[in-house]
Amino acid sequence: MAKKKVVVIGGGWAGCAAALSAAKQGAEVTLLERADMLLGTGLVGGIFRNNGRFTAAEEAIAMGGGDLFELMDACTIHKDFQFPGHEHASMYASRAIEPLVAQALEDYGVDIRRLTRATEVELDGTRMVAVMTGKDAGAERFEADAFVETTGTSASPGNCNRYGAGCCMCILRCHTFGMRVSIAGKAGIVEMTGRKGDHVGAMSGACEILKETIDPKLVAELNEKGVLIVPIPQNDQPGSAKLDAKCCQQYNLPEYAANLVILDNGEAKLMTPFFPLHQLRSIPGFKRARFADPYSGGSGNSMRYFNMSPRNDALKVEGLENVFCGGEKAGLLVGHTEAVVTGMLAGYNAARFACGEAPLVLPDSLAIGDAIQHVREEMQTEKGLGCKYTFSGSVYFQRMKQRGSYLMDVAEIKRRVEAAGLTGIFGWRAGVTAKGHGQALAELATNAW
Ligand SMILES: Cc1cc2nc3c(=O)[nH]c(=O)nc-3n(C[C@H](O)[C@H](O)[C@H](O)COP(=O)(O)OP(=O)(O)OC[C@H]3O[C@@H](n4cnc5c(N)ncnc54)[C@H](O)[C@@H]3O)c2cc1C
Repeated sequence: MAKKKVVVIGGGWAGCAAALSAAKQGAEVTLLERADMLLGTGLVGGIFRNNGRFTAAEEAIAMGGGDLFELMDACTIHKDFQFPGHEHASMYASRAIEPLVAQALEDYGVDIRRLTRATEVELDGTRMVAVMTGKDAGAERFEADAFVETTGTSASPGNCNRYGAGCCMCILRCHTFGMRVSIAGKAGIVEMTGRKGDHVGAMSGACEILKETIDPKLVAELNEKGVLIVPIPQNDQPGSAKLDAKCCQQYNLPEYAANLVILDNGEAKLMTPFFPLHQLRSIPGFKRARFADPYSGGSGNSMRYFNMSPRNDALKVEGLENVFCGGEKAGLLVGHTEAVVTGMLAGYNAARFACGEAPLVLPDSLAIGDAIQHVREEMQTEKGLGCKYTFSGSVYFQRMKQRGSYLMDVAEIKRRVEAAGLTGIFGWRAGVTAKGHGQALAELATNAW
């Protein structure tokens, strides 16, 4: 029988996880990415395993879908460190990991198409038949049995102008590769936008300073400990309005207003959306500071949480019978871990749909299952649309603690997965083989340096 086809649109962490998950189920997978690199906003992040993200990563591993977490672990430059409000964090080398993820996907049999921006859709009623690039990009057509949309929620430059501080020249590089296009939106689905009070969307919560522009003594401390905390003179401390506007509520704590909280992800990752350059340069050790991401990190940052899809708990887009979604597209879930676990489920369910099988809904006895259900429910309320959800802090981490789903004991996490009957569910389907089946991933991570 011919292999079933799955097309994944958007190659951030969610799209990579979806592609890999569908490939492990035996689907022929094509991953479309508009830019020249995979990982989207994951190219400038790096924090994982902090707080409840540890539990979510271990649940995914116990369910057989831990491939990308194992790769992140292998590319870790700081492990088990703390920073305000966050325990047992790991940091992957955000400047180095992308080629390894791409290699892993290829080893798993995924056909990666970079510089391929899907801008058009072909529908047969509520069934998606194909996505296409525009005429000026060759009108390439990608037909499939099922689709996964993981295009993220970044603003177009117009919306960064309207709701943010203008184009701050972030890693998404819209002016070079063209802006994000919502596939569900093109298919006529009415989508949702996050908002808080008068704010539409939310501003990304971290920026990066070039290490060579910071006092080498401070950089040595950052490199050694993974974290650097430098008090900000009282007059230069950001007001609460700036902290409120950011999308990463888990960093909306007083420590982040009183100090520069900097983490080492290869560059110096400053845990605030932006910081006026002249004020930064007045802080001892930073008088030559310059931003690495976004280039205009002294003025603002990218805006996100536009065009989220209505979806059910199997991550199928409401109103389309064969389109699934993951990552930020699936709701107000912030983070790489959140993108990977939702992408994993969306890719799995797309492959199952293509084979005529019923989709999987994860039970709320698992943190991942509960997060997927809870965020969907919350997004139906005005208040919920004003929040962001992450395993790592703020309202959702509180909920994990209250429900007893924040677990650090790996054996207990495995027991819960076992009790749900889901051990190894995202593993390779019987009879499916690929170059990356077995050892290739581990070899790739250890040999790469
Ligand atoms: C500056 C910054 C720092 C961050 N730091 C961290 C961190 O340290 N830890 C953490 O957990 N989270 C962090 N986050 C949040 C995290 O990066 C995101 O929540 C998560 O990675 C989102 O993944 P995604 O795949 O859903 O979306 P995205 O990363 O936005 O990926 C979407 C992809 O789809 C592509 N695309 C869009 N439209 C199309 C189309 N029509 N055709 C083809 N391709 C398309 C885009 O080019 C992009 O590559 C950070 C975010 C930012 C912006």
